[in-house]
Amino acid sequence: MQISKALTAAKILNPTAYKNSRGLTTRRFDSDPYHWNANTVVHILERKEYTGCTVNFKTYTNSIWDKKQRDNPEENWAIFENAHPEIIKPDMFKKVQEIRKQRHRRTRTGKSSMFSGLVYCEDCGAKMRYCTTKDFEKRQDHFVCGNYKSNTGSCSIHFIRAVVLEQLVLNNLQVVISYVTAHENYFRQVMTEKMSLKSAEIVKSAKRKLAQNEKRLAELDHLFIKIYEDNVAAKLSDERFAMMSEQYEDEQATLKSDIISLQAEIAEQERQTENLELFIKKAKKYDGLNELTPYALRELVKAIYVEKPDKSSGKRKQKIRIQYDLVGFIPINELLQAEKQRETA
Ligand SMILES: [Zn+2]
Repeated sequence: MQISKALTAAKILNPTAYKNSRGLTTRRFDSDPYHWNANTVVHILERKEYTGCTVNFKTYTNSIWDKKQRDNPEENWAIFENAHPEIIKPDMFKKVQEIRKQRHRRTRTGKSSMFSGLVYCEDCGAKMRYCTTKDFEKRQDHFVCGNYKSNTGSCSIHFIRAVVLEQLVLNNLQVVISYVTAHENYFRQVMTEKMSLKSAEIVKSAKRKLAQNEKRLAELDHLFIKIYEDNVAAKLSDERFAMMSEQYEDEQATLKSDIISLQAEIAEQERQTENLELFIKKAKKYDGLNELTPYALRELVKAIYVEKPDKSSGKRKQKIRIQYDLVGFIPINELLQAEKQRETA
């Protein structure tokens, strides 16, 4: 919706008006050539073909008698990569889908933060909520743990001001970027080792979960046949049958979507060498970064974990941990320490 508002305000021709301006016929006629619908933007953002592939079987029809076009689930699509020149880089497309999956809570004031959906509480793992009001000055905007509700919540107060967060994230990124740029080979060596250990663990547990899901899915198929037969044989009432099959279908849908994300997770882990190279390339691209932009943030950062403030020194000190995109956590302190030792040696 925000993008469509920006396009409307910038007086960019909408797709229908653009087609008209090129002398192409269109089915619809929009009265305002600059008016953009939020749905149009969604359609553009989700259109995989822009990455250069051809997608077949996005819809299907039941039979030659029922010609209604139905949406085919994505796992049934046939995708042919590099079918035509790309206009969107595939990794940018992937990033956009990721951002769209994170539900953005738009505040009532209409203000939003580039960190929305990226910030988590280190203690309880909950997402942190962006809080702002119209009268807030920028320095008062803050994030608070989703499990913290004054005195009744399950998490003790976790709170960080948005400006503090921005400064901490920028500092972290700057240190990592300059390290990667200066010591690319050593960074590659350490991260390869770290990632292959971590990745073996993740792949093992994802494969175990995947096998369980597939087994349960097969069980459900049998159960479904069983209740169907019982229903036909009048051993199971129609209401009961309807209720049970609905339950099975729900469980089936959940299992199927979990299977898809597990497969993606495994594939992602198996691509880790490629991911590491991609991260190094991105980090080097941002060498000299002195201001955090939403795009740089999304390109480099997957999640930010906020720790409980440390007041032992009398001053409020807060630490964050950044999970970087493509590579996860970077043991930057150890890397810097090792660097110092190498220098003195
Ligand atoms: Zn919490």
